[in-house]
Amino acid sequence: MKYFSTRGAGPVSLDEALLAGIASDGGLFLPEKMPRIDWHSLATDASICATGEAFLRPFFVGSSIAGDLKEVVAETFSFPLPVTALPDLHGSCDLLELYHGPTAAFKDVGAGFLAACLGRLAGDVKNPLTILVATSGDTGGAVAAAFDGRVGLRVVVLYPDGKVSARQAHQLSCWGDNVLSLAVDGSFDDCQALVKRAMADEHLAEKYRFSSANSINIGRLLPQAIYYAHASVMHHAKLGRKPGFIIPTGNLGNAFACFLARECGLPIGDIILVTNENRTINDYLESAEWKPRSSVQTLASAMDVGNPSNMERLRHLGGEAAQLSKQLCAVSVNDAQITQQIGQNFAEFGFATCPHTATATHAWRLLDPQEQLDKDWIIVATAHPAKFEQIVEPIIGTTVPLPADLADTLARPRQFLEIDASMAALEKVLAEEFCT
Ligand SMILES: *Cc1c(COP(=O)(O)O)cnc(C)c1O
Repeated sequence: MKYFSTRGAGPVSLDEALLAGIASDGGLFLPEKMPRIDWHSLATDASICATGEAFLRPFFVGSSIAGDLKEVVAETFSFPLPVTALPDLHGSCDLLELYHGPTAAFKDVGAGFLAACLGRLAGDVKNPLTILVATSGDTGGAVAAAFDGRVGLRVVVLYPDGKVSARQAHQLSCWGDNVLSLAVDGSFDDCQALVKRAMADEHLAEKYRFSSANSINIGRLLPQAIYYAHASVMHHAKLGRKPGFIIPTGNLGNAFACFLARECGLPIGDIILVTNENRTINDYLESAEWKPRSSVQTLASAMDVGNPSNMERLRHLGGEAAQLSKQLCAVSVNDAQITQQIGQNFAEFGFATCPHTATATHAWRLLDPQEQLDKDWIIVATAHPAKFEQIVEPIIGTTVPLPADLADTLARPRQFLEIDASMAALEKVLAEEFCT
């Protein structure tokens, strides 16, 4: 399989696409054609790893690590991703729980897969590949956890000191010697600017073998399609119907993976994108004008994206607004509705939901009652509520028990360094940590 940029550059191999992240012309990589996945041949009780291997096989044709695919998939899906039934309130509605990984959010899947691939493609004990990540909270933790302890790879995480939650700060800074956590005296934008400048500095980039693990890498996207493939095939095997998915959306990586799975022929029905008050996607589908903007802060902070980068992939594959509107729809949910949903979900389901997942339960409750009855729905739960306990606990009036993995993570000692938001400070700390 060859890969092309959404802006035309290519072809490149999967290996090159994984290593480069972004295409040379600034576009995003997509496979040259969408393979048809023969899901009918999967056993009705296939494991997610078996589905994952069958799904990824055509994407890995020609890759130097195609022979490792089975192991890569097994390393990625080392934690459960259960589909649980919601109390039968009205029609068939399940919850796809993507939050049982080491940092309790779906980003663990993409980060784990990328770490497994890059370790095999470019890991080098003597001269490690250095992943640079700027993070506003969740991504950096998932990447650090996934690369922790991997031979021949190391990670430098830059996060804005004091601007992430206490639990997030912990998840960003409790890893082994191959993870360097930097609390930067500045904003997320300052962190991102430092990463960009460091990557663009040829001397530094060569010396440390810089690479990135950000969400536009095709290696974050492909494994996410697997849980949609698996959930839909298992649902279809059991009930003979295609489930629709309701997906909390920010940068559009998770929802695009669902679209990709459907393009490959998987038995997926409707796709509903749910945004918070960052309405760029909703407005585009309504007005046909693409107007990226600055993000606004909401309770579902991991979805605070004003310029969702994966829209470029979605438009490339699905067409412009008028065409896209025939293939999916988008709903926007505000903070008052998120708060209301967290309370209502707790009362009706008997468990807490994170603010991101709450946007999706709202979209489900907004459906026409007939649509709730006639179609099967799967709500995508993107994070564990214990990650956002400061928002969730006051609403439900009780504490959210910590899942075991998250409790383990939070029990690890923190190690991090504080730096100014300057290139000089970043260079100094890299030299001190890595050149001794
Ligand atoms: C990142 C994230 C999202 C948004 O996913 P995208 O792939 O950026 O659309 C939603 N919920 C949680 C908990 C996240 O961490």
